[in-house]
Amino acid sequence: MGRRRDRIRPIIELLATEHADAKIALEFRSPVELLISVMLSAQTTDVNVNRVTKTLFEKYRGPEDYLAVPREELEQDVYATGFFRQKAKSIQGAMRVLLEEFDGEVPGTVDELLRLPGVARKTANVVAAELGNPQGIVVDTHVRRLSQRLGLTRREDPVKIERDLVKLVPRADWGRFPHLLIWHGRRVCDARRPRCEDCVLVALCPSSRVEVDEVAEIP
Ligand code: SF4
Repeated sequence: MGRRRDRIRPIIELLATEHADAKIALEFRSPVELLISVMLSAQTTDVNVNRVTKTLFEKYRGPEDYLAVPREELEQDVYATGFFRQKAKSIQGAMRVLLEEFDGEVPGTVDELLRLPGVARKTANVVAAELGNPQGIVVDTHVRRLSQRLGLTRREDPVKIERDLVKLVPRADWGRFPHLLIWHGRRVCDARRPRCEDCVLVALCPSSRVEVDEVAEIP
């Protein structure tokens, strides 16, 4: 199968060709909308967040708009994303600090983003990466599963998985790498039923259920 250091580039290249459309599934038009979307996406699906933000972003155009309403009103407006009380509180806290310390602009580094109330490391990593400044590799459930199946890590803990991945994945690919794994996970390498027979990584994956000599042509 080869060393993971030798396999990582072909893995990235094959996935980039296969999922040329891979990108963040959240819909937003500005860095503030990106930040709000990512904050709302905790414990729910991106589809659900997009449904809620479609109307939310018509009502709230800038950071000050989130502070101009009572907390209860914002809670109702984000209710359908779940954990609505905590999310409304975090959003108002983050918007306040954004206005007070960052002139209303979303900062681009993880350290600065972590100064916003309610913004944890994962949120900060996603936002920084989308703003073109990835400082780590976002590890969600798909990234974790695929990294393990592809033999890129043996770890279980997301922080340790990220540590393994940043040593392995070229820095220029830190931003797109999670999207590639997420889309591959959704489309091909399902948690319960991986479709190895249709997978472009079959010759590079130690977990493949298909014999490599069954593969007609190995890229
Ligand atoms: S070969 Fe199978 S287990 Fe490996 S990445 Fe592809 S679908 Fe997943």
